Amino acid sequence: MEFAAFTARADDIDAEAADLAKTALVRDLFAAAGDDLSVVARFVQGRVFPAWDSTTLDIGPSLCYEAIARAAGQNVTAAAVEDRLAEMGEIGDVAASFDFGGQRGLAAFGSGGQSNLTVEGVDEALRALAAASGSGSQDRKLDTLFGLFNRCSPAEARYLARLVLAEMRIGVGEGTVRDAIAEAFLADAADAAAVRDDDADDEQVTAARERRDTAIETVERALQVSNDYGRVAVIARDEGETGLDAVQLEVGRPVQAMLAQAGTVLDALDAWGDVAVETKFDGARVQVHYDGGSENGEGDTDVSLFSRNMEDVTDALPEVVEFVEREVDVPVILDGEVVAVDDDGSPLPFQEILRRFRRKHDVDRMRDEVTVELRAFDCLHVDGDDLLAESVTDRHDRLTDLLGETDAVSNLLLTEDAEEIEAYEAEALDAGHEGIMLKNPDAPYSPGKRGKNWLKRKPDVETLDLVVTGAEWGEGRRATFLGTFLVSARVEESEDAEFRTLGKVATGITDERLAELTERLEPDIVAESGTQVDLRPTTVFEVGYEEIQQSPTYSSGYALRFPRFVEVREDKTPETADTLERVERLAEQQ
Ligand code: AMP
Repeated sequence: MEFAAFTARADDIDAEAADLAKTALVRDLFAAAGDDLSVVARFVQGRVFPAWDSTTLDIGPSLCYEAIARAAGQNVTAAAVEDRLAEMGEIGDVAASFDFGGQRGLAAFGSGGQSNLTVEGVDEALRALAAASGSGSQDRKLDTLFGLFNRCSPAEARYLARLVLAEMRIGVGEGTVRDAIAEAFLADAADAAAVRDDDADDEQVTAARERRDTAIETVERALQVSNDYGRVAVIARDEGETGLDAVQLEVGRPVQAMLAQAGTVLDALDAWGDVAVETKFDGARVQVHYDGGSENGEGDTDVSLFSRNMEDVTDALPEVVEFVEREVDVPVILDGEVVAVDDDGSPLPFQEILRRFRRKHDVDRMRDEVTVELRAFDCLHVDGDDLLAESVTDRHDRLTDLLGETDAVSNLLLTEDAEEIEAYEAEALDAGHEGIMLKNPDAPYSPGKRGKNWLKRKPDVETLDLVVTGAEWGEGRRATFLGTFLVSARVEESEDAEFRTLGKVATGITDERLAELTERLEPDIVAESGTQVDLRPTTVFEVGYEEIQQSPTYSSGYALRFPRFVEVREDKTPETADTLERVERLAEQQ
């Protein structure tokens, strides 16, 4: 395909505002792309390389401006290109505003169509440019790019500049490409037309839409698994649904990470009944690919580690590589977090992992300073089995089969009991973790999706400053500490300070803190029965919670759902603590 034909279609696609009509134009482009389909499917999104490939062109904007200036002629400098950019606001428009003499100019010299740029030619030139490295490589890149711009018509220059800077700006996102692939190669042309036909009868449209959606789902799955729009487009065209269904994960090619939304424990319990609860590790996301230790040459590592953005971070994390090589002997793809830990394996603050995560130099020296470990929480592939469609619990089982119930694997609690979740959370916070994740136990792994199946427990929105009016002695190793605190709101109108209870706080307090609080509150004990104590009101806690509920359990008539300790409010006294009126107001506002 001539590059000019591609850019003419890109212009048409850009000019079309309606989604379905835009998709139809992309579909027609794909159908016309012939041997260049895989490149075209990437180019429409401004990509030269597939998403799984972390290779970049490594061309900064200034090199691009320089190449444009050179191609534009003797009188134009890179500074002049930048001035125009400041005026016009977008590099494609700037590139198109110069006359490089492409096509028309060449034709005038009698070279006919021979020298026209092709999609394949542009792709090859850009790839060669990406591969250039070492001394003088920037100059060679500049020469190549200049050579390309020199052959461009204004329309071609517009899209070449955008491709080089990885932004096509024609409003074609991943969803459009996916739908266009389905329509071009899987869906029935009559269905595609019916979906767009305002006069078609409802039944026909519904049936057409269903068939189109099924085709789209097939494409979507293959895209999720392969992360390669070009390859999927070609398979859809050449092998149809059967070919797409057969697309498998490949060890060594990262898939997009599944993401989480914020949500509450109540959301999770309401939606799923049973909840899979895990520690939320405070580290950096890592996807582990291991080929099982097959016959690689000496010194070659067969473990690859990828960041959340699918960058290759293998070289920065040799301990994780060694761990995987030691513990696993089959091909796997794991998802998890790398955390920085102290000598006891307890988590260190997030900043510490940042000192290691993308490091390219001094890895060995830093390894002595900051120890990192893997905390795997998911398993996408084991020894030929793709597990994306399996449930959270089944995938976690495969993970424990592989690595055992060790620190390297998240400890999954399956429960429908809010109190168990609360206790799990207290323990996680106590151990220095960031919090907890709540997962739908039946959910598959959906790459790249920020869906409702994974929830990171929402931080509390509004806190209350409540007076501690009672407590309970702990159990087991905490028997000498006050462990659970009864918190109360002040009754505003009362003559002598009167307090009404609202809930018990036991979550969010470290052992060290419990010792301090016990020492502080013990002198305030005014009555004791069993493990329960009444306290003279002296101390104010800032308390987080998920919801305020009406409840007969406490004397205020309200109860906090998931109350947790945030801080002691040293600056407040029981007289300035929050009032029952404020609690009532907040409850109403919910
Ligand atoms: P956030 O970065 O705040 O959006 O929270 C989601 C992130 O938490 C994920 O992308 C992971 O990097 C991280 N995370 C830590 N522990 C887990 C876990 N057990 N399951 C899933 N994600 C986790």
